[in-house]
Amino acid sequence: MTFRPYRRTVQFAFFALMFAIPVLNAYEIYTITGTYYALQAGGLEAADPAAILQTVFASGEFAPPILSGLLFPVLFALVLGRVWCGWMCPYHLLSDGVFRLRTMFRTKVLGRHEAETLAVPRALKANLSRYAFLLIGTAAAGMLGIPVLNFVSAPGILSTEAMILVRQHTLSLEFGFIAAILLTELLFFPRFWCRLFCPTGSCLALIRAPFTLKVRSAAGNPKAPCCKENACGPACPMGLAPHQEGANLLCTNCARCIDACRSDGDRGLLGFRGFSQP
Ligand code: SF4
Ligand code: SF4
Ligand code: SF4
Repeated sequence: MTFRPYRRTVQFAFFALMFAIPVLNAYEIYTITGTYYALQAGGLEAADPAAILQTVFASGEFAPPILSGLLFPVLFALVLGRVWCGWMCPYHLLSDGVFRLRTMFRTKVLGRHEAETLAVPRALKANLSRYAFLLIGTAAAGMLGIPVLNFVSAPGILSTEAMILVRQHTLSLEFGFIAAILLTELLFFPRFWCRLFCPTGSCLALIRAPFTLKVRSAAGNPKAPCCKENACGPACPMGLAPHQEGANLLCTNCARCIDACRSDGDRGLLGFRGFSQP
């Protein structure tokens, strides 16, 4: 089984949902409301954990109404890991498109066929970068009393812009931020936002338990690639070596490495392991 068509379907569905919500609301259908900062559906609420974290620091309150939006995202991430990032986030879909454009230009125009070298290639340094960013942003939210990281939350901004587009047929200045990071990924540093900065992805990565779904290799934890083609390595958008780093905080459970390993001579060493398979 290849995960790619399923992942793309889910990604496009969540992209379409950003536009569907304001359209439904315009027809006074309020079964689902909100944006990807905080969604309300059928009495359930799901909020961006980074937004909640900042609200707690900005307000100085640790009250149940503030924390209620965390329940569903926490349970979801505890079981399935960062599938929000790998399968649902609208920014990830745009970043995939930009990466594809960049690859086409490199191979067809520049004739370069080697894999991309990502900015800050080592996982440890990439994680340090994004947790430093999260820490500084959260501290700033606490000091200023404003959830400053919301101004750089790519999924939240995109869904708010979709709402503005549907309701007012325009875009706000914040769309400029999304355009700027996509352009930076296209021209200079592919995948840099999710790997080095995004506060939402950083928070979601911390919600994990021993049973959380992760990528594991049936070969154990080999130090070197277990096939000479190393098909899984270049397939990973987070710059990980999936044969040994599937449990890293950067992993989004996107399953690209699993598909690459299976399609490469059908070795099939990589797979998801979770609560049912330790
Ligand atoms: S890291 Fe942030 S922008 Fe990237 S996929 Fe996750 S939530 Fe979306
Ligand atoms: S290790 Fe595999 S599942 Fe994790 S981000 Fe990389 S390609 Fe996706
Ligand atoms: S593609 Fe599969 S067999 Fe090859 S290095 Fe990656 S996990 Fe090992």
